[in-house]
Amino acid sequence: IVHPDGPERPWRLGVMGGTFDPIHHGHLVAASEVAARFGLDEVVFVPTGVPWQKAGRGVSAAEDRYLMTVIATASNPRFSVSRVDIERPGDTYTVDTLKDLRRIRGGEVELFFITGADALAKILTWRGAEELFDLAHFIGVSRPGIPLGESDIAHLPADKVTLLEVPAMAISSTDCRNRVREGLPIWYLVPDGIVQYIAKRGLYGQLRATTEPVL
Ligand code: ATP
Ligand code: MG
Repeated sequence: IVHPDGPERPWRLGVMGGTFDPIHHGHLVAASEVAARFGLDEVVFVPTGVPWQKAGRGVSAAEDRYLMTVIATASNPRFSVSRVDIERPGDTYTVDTLKDLRRIRGGEVELFFITGADALAKILTWRGAEELFDLAHFIGVSRPGIPLGESDIAHLPADKVTLLEVPAMAISSTDCRNRVREGLPIWYLVPDGIVQYIAKRGLYGQLRATTEPVL
């Protein structure tokens, strides 16, 4: 893919991996802010696969998480969704995600992997980190309650990891799931279409909507 501004400029592709169970405004704000600050042409959201051991318990079906991600991103022309991780069997490893996207999109693409402060901390322990840094630039975004400082990334290659302060959204999928289970509203934490999709499918232990959803 070649950018319309000129053939010499590679397509700048942000990659936002996540379980997205459900996708919420914290994910969307992070992706939007990184896209603006780093001049990205596109951000592709990549829902993780469900390890077959976990299928049916713990994590919602890949198809529900995929559809929610599509619904939440549909209105943004720069956002897209990829099925690479949900179609690859077994656990999702970021190195596979990046290699698959690079193969599918072709050589003239620059990858920017977007990750919250909590997930970035785990990069320190990832095996094959050297290979990851060859595949993509990593952008660690701030997340309320999770300290993210330059000292945390001091030992990582400076030209491959950047920290970015994004508007604070104290929202997590875990909290959204718990709220649904407890009958509390998730309006304004997630896009409207996600509230309606969760009610329609009866996700997270909420009673399936019959005539009127319990909101
Ligand atoms: P769960 O509670 O199930 O772990 P989550 O809210 O952490 O869900 P994930 O799907 O695990 O969402 O996260 C995907 C990516 O988005 C991770 O890199 C995570 O750090 C980042 N992220 C999630 N919520 C926020 C937020 N509120 N602000 C910034 N980044 C976030
Ligand atoms: Mg998480």
